[in-house]
Amino acid sequence: MVDRKPLIAGNWKMNFNHLEAISFVQKLAWTLRDAKHDGSTVEVAVFPPYTDIRSVQTIVQADSLDLEYGAQDLSVHDSGAFTGEISGAFIKTLDAKYVLIGHSERRQYHAETDEVVAEKITAALRNKLVPVVCVGETLEDLEQHGPSAVAASQLKVALGALKADDDFVIAYEPVWAIGTGKAASETDAQNVAKVLRETIKDALGAEAAEKTRVLYGGSVKANNIAAYMRQPDIDGALVGGASLVLDEFASIIQYQKHIGV
Ligand code: PEP
Repeated sequence: MVDRKPLIAGNWKMNFNHLEAISFVQKLAWTLRDAKHDGSTVEVAVFPPYTDIRSVQTIVQADSLDLEYGAQDLSVHDSGAFTGEISGAFIKTLDAKYVLIGHSERRQYHAETDEVVAEKITAALRNKLVPVVCVGETLEDLEQHGPSAVAASQLKVALGALKADDDFVIAYEPVWAIGTGKAASETDAQNVAKVLRETIKDALGAEAAEKTRVLYGGSVKANNIAAYMRQPDIDGALVGGASLVLDEFASIIQYQKHIGV
């Protein structure tokens, strides 16, 4: 059995300017150091706004911090006359590891379809960025189709852009749970994560399904992270609001202390 290293990822959305980003990352590192957190057992990544990434890079590299970072989106193009777009090649130049793709706010406010998401996955891989592909159902979808149907159908299209040996992460984020304080139950999140892993297996084979990390996202807090991390198919969390609150995010990262693993 493959050992999937848990990933706790903080999506800052459009919060923190570059000065606030430097201060937050420094304080997070000090907090985890003071708590004697063992960074080798859980990977931590933050997803700052584009304008912060260079500052985060500088502090991470200058202080050799055990922290990965990525962008919240990227263009399908690598360069050219695309005003306002950001190239995956530029993001990679900042030594970013990850890029979020298909977050529900991109799908909702920027009309990103499953096909655009697939194109962005291709752009990420072309630039050696690890895509963190977000899928999940709205409340309406949930009422009409149940919890896993829409997430699985979004994932199937995304998998068309991926090969078995690609490094990628899936984040199951029910839209109704994002920023609402109404998190999915750990049982429901596990059931969907299992369906998503089976969907990867059907498309790319057992080895890809076994090695790929599936995260849960949607109102994750320090007081519910342990319940998710106990589930066999949940390998971490994509955290929005709580990733902006220093003690809360530090506590989520140290979930092993509260579940005693
Ligand atoms: C998100 O935006 O990806 C998210 C999960 O937000 P929150 O944790 O605030 O629900």
